[in-house]
Amino acid sequence: MPFQPLPQDQPHIILGCPDCHTSWVVYEQQIGLPVPCPGCGSAARPTRLGYTDAGSGRQVSFGSFRRLLEQPDTAQRVIPMVEHWLNVRHEGGLQFVDGAGQPVPLAEVHFRIQGHAQWQGELYNQYMNVAR
Ligand SMILES: [Zn+2]
Repeated sequence: MPFQPLPQDQPHIILGCPDCHTSWVVYEQQIGLPVPCPGCGSAARPTRLGYTDAGSGRQVSFGSFRRLLEQPDTAQRVIPMVEHWLNVRHEGGLQFVDGAGQPVPLAEVHFRIQGHAQWQGELYNQYMNVAR
């Protein structure tokens, strides 16, 4: 059965892929479950890198972040924010590229936002506008 987080659960454990070095954030309850790498799909056991700035209570999960980018009404607000924050360019869909035109995996985009308190808060506000 897929893991279903409770509403009060917050993902705050940082995992890293040993194959492609993508890092992403999971729930405590997901530790030990087989979680494929969001960057390359590798099923190799991810390395535990540490904790995000937990306790802010303002994390937006990877799945929620993805939905913000997929829904046109939120995408038109969130995408320019992401482009501005990370100096990336939106290429349509869920694709971002950096200044050199290299693809930036969505998990990396999410992770970098979640690792920055101000951006995390602004993204959370966007998320809460929708959730209400
Ligand atoms: Zn990987």
